[in-house]
Amino acid sequence: MARIDLHLHTTYSDGSVPPAEVVSLAHKASVTALAITDHDIVDGIPEALEAGTQLGVEVIPGIEISSRWEEKETHILGYFLKWQDPELQKCLADHRISRHTRNPQIVEKLNKFGLSLTYDEVKAKGHSASIGRPHIAQVLVEKGYVNSVKEAFDRYLGVGGDAYIPRELPEAREAIDWIRKAGGVPVLAHPGWTKQKGEDLKKFCKKLKEAGLLGIEVFYSTHHPRQTSEYLGVARHLDLLVTGGSDFHGVTKPGIEVGIGRGNLKVPEKLLEPLKNAACF
Ligand SMILES: [Zn+2]
Ligand SMILES: [Zn+2]
Repeated sequence: MARIDLHLHTTYSDGSVPPAEVVSLAHKASVTALAITDHDIVDGIPEALEAGTQLGVEVIPGIEISSRWEEKETHILGYFLKWQDPELQKCLADHRISRHTRNPQIVEKLNKFGLSLTYDEVKAKGHSASIGRPHIAQVLVEKGYVNSVKEAFDRYLGVGGDAYIPRELPEAREAIDWIRKAGGVPVLAHPGWTKQKGEDLKKFCKKLKEAGLLGIEVFYSTHHPRQTSEYLGVARHLDLLVTGGSDFHGVTKPGIEVGIGRGNLKVPEKLLEPLKNAACF
């Protein structure tokens, strides 16, 4: 059955599958349109576009920007971006530098706890400028310091972990701005993450809308049906667009497949048209 998937990561950020292969997996899963939404980087888009042309799958240039709203990490997706826009590329490059200063500090902290690893070993795990904590976690698993990526985050890398270092993130309104200036459509990613519901969630989304947000990711691999219907309600109430995607990462997020998430995700094709109409081409 035809479906779309508007949230996919590749080897250009913390996914394990290269862009062309992600498009091919989507094709096999009867996905007719997809968005590549790597963290803070657009460099995987050309490879995906080329594969999309070959396989007859529509590829939407996208992004997922890590930002913050009142100290809470908030991810903003962007769709139909003019991804070659020099201003956008510069904002993203500056943003990624903050990772590069943080990663070595994390490695140093881990060393102090007696865990032996180097930043070169971490860098060898990624293909791109978007190296992050998942790559550090991979090294810790391989060296046998932890049994899983999840354990690495729980014990060391996540908020409250022994080697946690907060990252300097742009404000959500800045991320929204970057996307709008590049002609794209900014959308709140996985609202389930915010752990907010009811009136709090509505207020939060309303403030984001005032900052320029145009949509909410209602359909998502790990949303409970109850959450999906609540987010749909919020989108309708605030007149925001509805999107959805798997957040596929390959082996770095096991159990989530392109197009179908944990098996029962189905993002309707009809969501694409309004999203396209909101973009500035
Ligand atoms: Zn995210
Ligand atoms: Zn994501």
